[in-house]
Amino acid sequence: MNYKFKLLKIHCAGCALALEQNLNGLEGVKAEINFVTKIIKLEIETEKPEETLEIVKKAIHDFDHSIEIADFEDEEDAEKKEKKEKIADAIRLGIALVIMICNIFVPIKWLQITIFALDYLLVSYKVLISAAINIAHKKIFDENFLMTIASIGAFIIQEYAEAICVMLLFGIGEILEDLAVGKSRKTIKSLLEIKQPYANLVDGDSEVKVALSDIKIGDIIRVKPGERVPLDGVIENGTSYLDMSALTGETKEKIVQAGDEVLSGSINGASVLTVKVTKLEAESTVSKIIALVEEATESKAKSEKFISRFSKIYTPTVIVLALILMFIPPIFSGYANFATFAYRACCFLVVSCPCALVISVPLSYFAGIGAFARLGIMVKGANYVDVLAKVDAVVFDKTGTLTEGNFEISEIYAAGEHTKEEILEVTAYAESFSNHRIAKSVLKAYKEETNKEINNAWINDYTEIAGMGVKANIFMQDVLVGNAKHLSSNGINMIEVQKSGTVLYVSIAGEYAGYVVIEDIVKKDSEKAIKDLKALGIKDISMCTGDEENVAKAISSKIGLTNAYASLLPEDKVDVIVSKVQEGKTVAFVGDGINDAPSLANSNVGIAMGGLGSDVAVQASDVVIMTDEPSKVAVAIKKAKKTKRIVLENIFGSIGIKVAILALIAFGFSGMWLAVFADVGVSLIAILNSLRAMLK
Ligand code: ADP
Ligand code: MG
Repeated sequence: MNYKFKLLKIHCAGCALALEQNLNGLEGVKAEINFVTKIIKLEIETEKPEETLEIVKKAIHDFDHSIEIADFEDEEDAEKKEKKEKIADAIRLGIALVIMICNIFVPIKWLQITIFALDYLLVSYKVLISAAINIAHKKIFDENFLMTIASIGAFIIQEYAEAICVMLLFGIGEILEDLAVGKSRKTIKSLLEIKQPYANLVDGDSEVKVALSDIKIGDIIRVKPGERVPLDGVIENGTSYLDMSALTGETKEKIVQAGDEVLSGSINGASVLTVKVTKLEAESTVSKIIALVEEATESKAKSEKFISRFSKIYTPTVIVLALILMFIPPIFSGYANFATFAYRACCFLVVSCPCALVISVPLSYFAGIGAFARLGIMVKGANYVDVLAKVDAVVFDKTGTLTEGNFEISEIYAAGEHTKEEILEVTAYAESFSNHRIAKSVLKAYKEETNKEINNAWINDYTEIAGMGVKANIFMQDVLVGNAKHLSSNGINMIEVQKSGTVLYVSIAGEYAGYVVIEDIVKKDSEKAIKDLKALGIKDISMCTGDEENVAKAISSKIGLTNAYASLLPEDKVDVIVSKVQEGKTVAFVGDGINDAPSLANSNVGIAMGGLGSDVAVQASDVVIMTDEPSKVAVAIKKAKKTKRIVLENIFGSIGIKVAILALIAFGFSGMWLAVFADVGVSLIAILNSLRAMLK
């Protein structure tokens, strides 16, 4: 059984990580916690999943009593409550600060110490309670515990104000951190607020606003100017233009009219459209995009895994160092300065929380993936951001990727007693079940030229051989349509011709019957795509096609590819990719998803073109480019590099600052305030730095 909940009041990313590890230790439980979205996903495979779920819930409370498990609907209320609590906390800390400052001027020593002690309790009672509860659950080494030890240590060596300061800074830091994470969560989410929560259902003469979940396929809805299309559908009535920028990142508007497909998430421009719904809420484009982005942050990148391993050794190491610092140097000086080193050890404890890292790394990826989405690029996991950043070989598919994939018929040749009309008709019939772009184009041309519809009753025994062509029984005769290899491998005697376009050879009843030449145009964007990749320093940019050598060469020299591999079957394309991978290259394969699933799967990162509408592509690929522009490949790689750089800055920046501050503390150059900065200050800087990944 799978479950999904929100974990509220989970404040520290390090704790989220530890909790995840704890839960995974339970039998039959697989848990994944996403600190950024606060979502916990559970896979429970036991005989009584409901009972195990209760065990899991209990384990979460045992782990940290303040965490709340909520359903998605409760989230808003809980957030409001949390906000109130936070304001109360801020006020409490403010009062404590004023008391502390005033108390410095109290002349009577014992009174001053008493007030300090009470003030200390006011500042830190929450932390102390959490620490106590966590110790009761045998959970030491958490932030609350470390802060408690450090501040009590300061108290014992009579640094009263310092003890209060530590807790004050810690409290303020926590509030700021929560604010920053919360704010970035919101900002990133707002990038994805492309869903309109209601639809205007047309019911006879009247119109009612209903929830999307109440709409059925076939319902008629009305989309008014300025509204978003709530569900995918087909226009019944009306002409307008759509702003699809939320889906494709492209600002160009698209003109639509009756009969056209509309995708949810696009904004209606000029006038009212009546739309017949073709997809339910869950299957509509908008829901898919949102799910893609939310789930993207769940598959963790290598750097994230590194951080979780690192933080596991970091905290104990610093604590051991603290103990060494407390006991070893005083031994050599006859314990005269024990208090000094005890104080320094306490400072060490403050720096020992790995939170800055644990928060900022996933947040950077999340922000990066949000920015990708805004550019019309869907990345299916943080791990693919890493791979994209490393890509040094790009292999493009030809048809539909570098070329438009809208073929025009430029010549028809009929051999023997066949007529050209007959050749076109037979070809169109043979192609009518195929999803290949060639087939779609031939069918379109046939319908436009003859004004006739295909009668499926005349098509039998249809099969398609990927990368070769189609085979069917049309009008009671066996027909082959495809490339020269397709016909000759079926034992047809034929004459090959050299044309500038793609030649579809046709055989009828075992005899060669003629050919249809179709021409495709190279996308306007393709040349720029290659140029941009070269500018990024990628040297191996090639094309794989099932088409003939001469067609491949022409395109290759036109747009500046470094290599073109022609006459390939889909499995040959895989070989090309695999051999590049074996050379040690990180290979991106870019295809339109038709026939390309094996290549998409065998490359290091599979990039599908035109994800809008084509489910095959979306499923088989790791990255989806919503517009049909190949130049987005370079954009994606560039963006991935930037995100990766920010991740590295955060990792090495925070480790660097922490180590430097530890050194300063060890040699007595700094006090506890700097230690607190190393804890919460660095987290804040890292969080703010992560947000840079969100910028376009
Ligand atoms: P590409 O590599 O250009 O995307 P494919 O691998 O899909 O092309 O197909 C390679 C070749 O196989 C095409 O150029 C065409 O000659 C032939 N072919 C593939 N599918 C079909 C089809 N449905 N009808 C006719 N020919 C086809
Ligand atoms: Mg193709």
